[in-house]
Amino acid sequence: MTINVLPPDVASQIAAGEVVERPSSAVKELVENAIDADARDIRVEVRRGGKTFLSVADDGCGIPAADVELAFERHATSKLSTAGDLDHILTLGFRGEALSSIASVSRVTMVTRAAAEETGVLLRLEGGAVVHRQPSGRAPGTTVTVEDLFFNVPARREFLRTDLTERRHVDNWITRYAIAYPGLRFALLHDDRETFRSPGTGHLHDVLVAVYGHEVGETLLEVFPEGGQERPILVSGFVAPPSFHRSNRQDVTLFVNGRWVQDSRLTYAVIQAYHTFLPVGRYPLAVVMVNLPPEEVDVNVHPAKVEVRFRDADAVFRAVQRAARQALVAKAPIPSAGGAATAARMAWQERHGRPFSHPPLPEPHTQAQQLQPELGMGERRGSLPPLRVVGQIGATYVVAEGPDGLYLIDQHAAHERVLYEQMMDRQEGLASQQVLEPQAVEVPPHAAARVMEGMAALNGLGFDVEPFGGTTFLVRALPAILGRAEPAEALLEVAETLGEARSRVDEALEEAIVRSICKRAAVKAGQVLTREEMEELVRGLERCVSPRTCPHGRPTMIRLSVDQLAREFGRQ
Ligand code: ADP
Ligand code: MG
Repeated sequence: MTINVLPPDVASQIAAGEVVERPSSAVKELVENAIDADARDIRVEVRRGGKTFLSVADDGCGIPAADVELAFERHATSKLSTAGDLDHILTLGFRGEALSSIASVSRVTMVTRAAAEETGVLLRLEGGAVVHRQPSGRAPGTTVTVEDLFFNVPARREFLRTDLTERRHVDNWITRYAIAYPGLRFALLHDDRETFRSPGTGHLHDVLVAVYGHEVGETLLEVFPEGGQERPILVSGFVAPPSFHRSNRQDVTLFVNGRWVQDSRLTYAVIQAYHTFLPVGRYPLAVVMVNLPPEEVDVNVHPAKVEVRFRDADAVFRAVQRAARQALVAKAPIPSAGGAATAARMAWQERHGRPFSHPPLPEPHTQAQQLQPELGMGERRGSLPPLRVVGQIGATYVVAEGPDGLYLIDQHAAHERVLYEQMMDRQEGLASQQVLEPQAVEVPPHAAARVMEGMAALNGLGFDVEPFGGTTFLVRALPAILGRAEPAEALLEVAETLGEARSRVDEALEEAIVRSICKRAAVKAGQVLTREEMEELVRGLERCVSPRTCPHGRPTMIRLSVDQLAREFGRQ
C-alpha cells in the first residue's frame, strides 16, 4: 500500500473532528475564547440547537486588525509561546486549534475590534478559506458566528441528534461556564428567546440560583475554601443537603482552575462525602471548585480539554472529600475524639462497675438517661429541634411534635442511626458477651475467606471468633449489643456484609461491620414501644450528628411542617 500525505483540507477536517464534535463544542470553544479575552458580557445565540446558526459575542480585548487572519491558522495562539509555558497554563485555550477547526467545517463570520483601534474588521471564511474581508464598526470586542456546521462533512452532520438534544448540550456548557465565572454576565438565546441569564454579581450562589432555581438554591450548603494540608489545594463550592438527591451522577459538577472537568475519581470523592447520608443508588447535587497551582495539573491530555491529570491525584481526592464532608456535617457540631459520648461512657462505667454496653431496646432508657447529664444543659449535637413524643403508629413509627411541625419517625431506622453513632464514637473495643456454649458455625465457602480476612476487625467489635477447620468457625462471644442473638445467624449476616464491603473500595471494613451489627441490634418494626422507650429513642436521635438518615442512607423521619398542615386544611 502506498503512503500518502493527506491534502491539508482533509488533514484539518480530521483534526477538527477531535475538537468540534457537535454544535455545543463550538459554543464551548468560542466562550472559552471570550473568557480568555477578559470579557465581562458574553451573549450566546443559537438556532436549531446550533445546527444552522450559533454565535458568541463578547466585550473582551478584541483582535488587532492585522492579526485576524492569523487567528484562524492552525496552532496560532496568543496564549502560549514556548513548550515550557505548557507547565503553567492560566488560560482556557492554549493550542490554537479551535478557530481553525471550527472554520474548516462551517461558514464563519468574525467581527472584531481591538480596544486600541478605531474600527474593526469583518472576516468571512468558508470551509477554512477566507472569502471576504471588510472594515466594520463595532464596540471593542468580538463576535463569532458559525453557520451550517459540518456543511462539508456530511458524515458528521448525519450524526447530529435532534435539535432538542443539541440544545441541551449547549445549555450544559453555558451553565458550566456561568458557574465557573460568577463575575461574568452570560445570556443565552435559543431560537430568538432568552432562556438563561447569569447575573454577574461575582457570587457563585447567585449563579446557582439562576441555574437550579430558588428552591434548590436555598438549601445549598457552602463548601468553605479549605487549604489542603499537604499541597496548596483549595476546594470551594456548594453541596446540596442529603435530602436532595438525584438518580445519576450528572449533577456533581467539577471545576479545576476554572475549567469544567470530567473526572470519575473526583466525582466519587464527592459521593463518598455523602457516605451513609444518601439512599443506595442515589446521587448528590454538588458544585465543587478545585484550585491549585497550574504546575500541579496537566490540562493538555484531552482534545476537548475536559480531562486533566493531577500531579498528586490522591491529595486532590482527599481534599475534595474532606471539604464536601465538612460542609455536610457543619450544621451540627462534629463530635470530637473523646467527646461527650466517650466521657459519658466512662462515667457510666464508673457508676456501674462494668464496661459500658449498649443494651438493646426494650430497656434502652438506661443508656440515654445516663448519657444525658454529661452532654451539658440543653446542649444538642444534632440539627433536630427538641421533639415531644405523641405516640406510636402501627408499632413501627413514632409520632412526635416539634416547634415547626409534625415528625413521623421510623423507629428501626432511627435506632440504627443512634446505635451507629454511639458505636463509631467509641474509643475502645465493643463490649462482648459470651454465648452460653461456644458454637461451631459453618459458613458458605465464599464467605469463609472473608471471615478469615475480617477476623481481627470482628474480634475488635465484640465478636470472639476463631477458625475451626475448613469453612467452620467457632463463635465464643458476640457483641453485647446483640443481646441473645443466634450466633450462627449473627456471623452469617456479618460475613455477607464483609463481602459487600470488599467490593466498595473506600469503605472501612470496620464501619461496614458496625452498620451490620446496628441493623441487627436496632428495634424492629412491629415492636410496641413504651412511652419511655420512644422518648429515649428521640433523645438519642437529637444527640446524633446526622439524625435524618439511617447508616444505610434511608430517611429516619418525615416532617410535616406547620405550613403544610395549614395548607392541607385550607387555613392558608
Ligand atoms: P487558543 O484559544 O487555543 O489560543 P483559538 O483558535 O481558540 O486558540 O484562538 C486563536 C487566537 O485567536 C487566540 O489565541 C486569541 O489570540 C484570538 N482570539 C480568538 N477568539 C478571541 C476573542 N473572542 N477575543 C479576542 N481574541 C480572540
Ligand atoms: Mg480557544
